Amino acid sequence: MSLSNETPITGRIHSIESGGMVDGPGIRFVVFTQGCPLRCLYCHNPDTQTLWEGREISVDEVMKEIVKYRSYMRFTGGGVTVTGGEPLIQHHFTREIFRRCQEQGIHTTLDTSGFASPKVAATVPNMSTWRCYASRHLIPRYTIG
Ligand code: SF4
Repeated sequence: MSLSNETPITGRIHSIESGGMVDGPGIRFVVFTQGCPLRCLYCHNPDTQTLWEGREISVDEVMKEIVKYRSYMRFTGGGVTVTGGEPLIQHHFTREIFRRCQEQGIHTTLDTSGFASPKVAATVPNMSTWRCYASRHLIPRYTIG
């Protein structure tokens, strides 16, 4: 019987990719979070926009996958990238992945549009070794009237 009352932190993800080459230095383990409130004209991952799709996963489960790839991350100067979707709308999940990676000396990158409350935007990006603020076209794809 567990004596811990802690609830595992979970998030909703679209997918994970174990050999990312374009989301930061080296070869990377990439977590694509689900959900983004923006509707960029040239969205690179439109199927990540709706928050209710994707699948729920705990940080523990994500970390179990990440540690399998530590050796190639080390040899290529890679690490873990959290992207989306917009990873800052699930900031508890994103923050905990970064914290756990950094405990293990794994390089972390946040790929964000920067869409977040000032408090979140001031803390979570600073927990990542690298930050990529993607500048995209914020023109709605649909207009009414
Ligand atoms: S911020 Fe990213 S995921 Fe969100 S709509 Fe724009 S390109 Fe798509």
